[in-house]
Amino acid sequence: MEKRDFSERVIRWFSAHGRKDLPWQQESTPYRVWVSEIMLQQTQVVTVIPYFQRFMARFPDLQALAEASQDEVLHYWSGLGYYARARNLHKAAKIIVEEQQGVFPDEIERLCELPGIGRSTAGAVLSLALGQSHPILDGNVKRVLARCFAIDGWPGQSAVLSRLWALSEGLTPESSARAYNQAMMDLGAGVCTRRNPNCQECPLQNLCKAYAQDELHAYPESKPKKQLPVKSVCMLLVTDPSGAVLLEKRPPAGIWGGLWSFPECESLEGIEAWSRRNLAIENCHFTAWETRRHSFSHYHLDIMPVQIALKNIASCVMDDAGRVWYNTGNSEQRGLAAPVARILNELNERTKGVSA
Ligand code: SF4
Repeated sequence: MEKRDFSERVIRWFSAHGRKDLPWQQESTPYRVWVSEIMLQQTQVVTVIPYFQRFMARFPDLQALAEASQDEVLHYWSGLGYYARARNLHKAAKIIVEEQQGVFPDEIERLCELPGIGRSTAGAVLSLALGQSHPILDGNVKRVLARCFAIDGWPGQSAVLSRLWALSEGLTPESSARAYNQAMMDLGAGVCTRRNPNCQECPLQNLCKAYAQDELHAYPESKPKKQLPVKSVCMLLVTDPSGAVLLEKRPPAGIWGGLWSFPECESLEGIEAWSRRNLAIENCHFTAWETRRHSFSHYHLDIMPVQIALKNIASCVMDDAGRVWYNTGNSEQRGLAAPVARILNELNERTKGVSA
């Protein structure tokens, strides 16, 4: 297959059908493209758009992002998930502003040294923002290449990944890499989709080996399945007489690192001891809600919310700077993981139901 033929087909298709009005395609500076690329990892365009717009309204440039607190950055990321992305984005902005005079790196090796920026993200930023020629290999591009060239194996295996990188490198044109990379991402997102590839609309149809073999779903191979472990936790919804809820800041590393969440107990049996130690109350009354499951990539977490309504604020011991009484009525700017935000909403609804 001719390299030029491949890229020209894709670029022609893009000029007729590609998306050209996405918010990060307007005024596509390296900063804006970088933020969009990080948000788009594991997240679809329609979900990202409102987050991107709010993020840019608050952090319009590197300086604004570097000067913000991590709490505020996480607040603007709340609900997008994979919070390490936001922490790394913030760290990288600080490094560029404090150690590199605020100048966004325009060399791929230097860009890849920053936290949270891998080869594909760096290639996308430098090609989409500055027109440099670098290959990319996000999930969409992997799928298009794996099908078109009938690449066996799961792309998480390093041998398969190396083959895909070699293909991407070989096919990326020297000039017009910006249009080509954008086109490949769009093709994977809108035509060569995971479940329902629309081969009739695909510019690569008569080059595509998977199509010729009528084996679209054989490529790319899925990750070998393994049973995920299940963990469980009680989240304690401690409310004061005004309805404010006790939240704790999670440690910086680990799940939901740096976000605000409820205090936790391993099981219902531990609640008495927890409330004696933390709230200085004996015989704590509580109401357990039904369990709900939240799945991470490496385990399932069964969460049982347990409501503890304090009658007297004085009984609560608050000797820890990592704790706050969170007023659900005010939109306080605190980063909350999606399941925590959902439970807070439910608590609000239930409280309204009781007081109505
Ligand atoms: S022909 Fe079908 S399977 Fe092949 S690249 Fe195009 S959409 Fe994907």
